[in-house]
Amino acid sequence: MAAERKPSGSRPIVAAAQKLESLKRAGVKQLPKSGRRQPNTARKSATTTAQPPQSIENQMPAAAPMAPVIAVPGDSLEIIRAEVAACQACHELAGTRTQTVFGVGNPRARLCFLGEAPGADEDRQGEPFVGRAGQLLTKIIEACTLTRADVYILNVLKCRPPGNRNPAPDEVENCRGFLNRQLKLIEPEYICCLGTIAAQTLLETDTPISRMRGKFFNYQGISVMCTYHPAYLLRNPAAKKDVWEDMKVLMGRMGIELPKSGS
Ligand code: URA
Repeated sequence: MAAERKPSGSRPIVAAAQKLESLKRAGVKQLPKSGRRQPNTARKSATTTAQPPQSIENQMPAAAPMAPVIAVPGDSLEIIRAEVAACQACHELAGTRTQTVFGVGNPRARLCFLGEAPGADEDRQGEPFVGRAGQLLTKIIEACTLTRADVYILNVLKCRPPGNRNPAPDEVENCRGFLNRQLKLIEPEYICCLGTIAAQTLLETDTPISRMRGKFFNYQGISVMCTYHPAYLLRNPAAKKDVWEDMKVLMGRMGIELPKSGS
């Protein structure tokens, strides 16, 4: 893999320290014991069948071993949502956003879709992937026999970059703790990274999306599939067939049967 970025081992500690500090400021003196969630078979889709055996040759590690994300005791999606809504870490984004865009869907989803950052529609509505690209993502999800309510949809950045520019590295860094905490709580089995920013941020690599798509990577024990961003598909409809190939591989790994006509 080309020019991999080094992971920072102190990041989980920094995130935990930030979280503790914010709880302290909120007047919290004692934290409940962290209770590990019981496995919930209900979160599995009705269309799910037994999972096929994992093929190790197709389960590629991420760019470099990453420091484990440490669960923050007493954390919840609602706590993180409130912290995100109050976040002022990125001066420009905090000053230009209409609202933050946290994430939507099943908090116990087996599959998360990870995008880049909210656009104008998402900034207005406070929900990820509701604009044109979002409508295409909804179609992709439905072609996989799922609904938006079955999966969890979130972004690397929770604020819209002005003019839809790419997220700046320090913005990604500022938001990464929120993303990791969301994933730690949802505990998905699979993440589908939509586009370059999501894939490169999550896997901490500079590898182009064209080389990562269609393969499985491992992030903190979660199987990660990368594919093209729906906004790219709007500009390059010919790439839709590649995304569909990727979704078929992902659904096959998840044990979700697709109708024959969808192939
Ligand atoms: N593009 C993204 O990456 N995320 C959204 O929420 C909308 C568009």
